[in-house]
Amino acid sequence: VRIRWLLVLFAATCGVGYGLASESVGTPAQGRLVDGEQLPYRGPNFRAYSRLGHLLQRTYVHAKVKQTLLDAYAELEKTMPGRTFIYGETGWPRGGRFRPHRTHQNGLSVDFMVPILRKGAPASLACTVFNKWCYAIEFDSAGRAGQDEIDFDAMAAHLLALQTAAGRHGLKIQKVIFDAPLQMPLLRTRHGRSLRMPFLGYAWVRHDEHYHVDFLPLKEKS
Ligand SMILES: [Zn+2]
Repeated sequence: VRIRWLLVLFAATCGVGYGLASESVGTPAQGRLVDGEQLPYRGPNFRAYSRLGHLLQRTYVHAKVKQTLLDAYAELEKTMPGRTFIYGETGWPRGGRFRPHRTHQNGLSVDFMVPILRKGAPASLACTVFNKWCYAIEFDSAGRAGQDEIDFDAMAAHLLALQTAAGRHGLKIQKVIFDAPLQMPLLRTRHGRSLRMPFLGYAWVRHDEHYHVDFLPLKEKS
């Protein structure tokens, strides 16, 4: 009995020590999050869509999702240098209804703003109150908005990095939502050709300026 308790204690300490003790309850559409963790506002090659959104705690996720995102960004520092990636809304510290989103309820959903090229050079979208922190930007069916065009290859590299990192942290990508007409140019890029993702093309709101990713914890062996 004593040994069993020691094991429990050890497991609990490891979980806390590595910040992997979060629990996602229910589904992204109806659920909650226990012991979620907040994403950092910024890192060497990424930042949140909004300082305010971050302060309002709209950027919490399951700890494994956080580790997956950070690993993927670290990988992109090597494969896609010179870019600043932007992540969007994720969810509340305790999950639950997250307006105006229909999902994002159990710490496993993350929005990412599309990486862009401006006049052919890597750039970042300017997310302000005037474009609803980038969510109101409209890209045409070729992925262009004014001087900006979606950097499809960087986006594909990001999705691949997320997939690899997710596997390392006991997760898999359950669903990617991105505008159907824009999937074609994405899949034709150098990195896009290796993409094997569960894409959804249509959702209640057009996903052209951002892509939504749902993660799913893999069953742990007992
Ligand atoms: Zn979303």
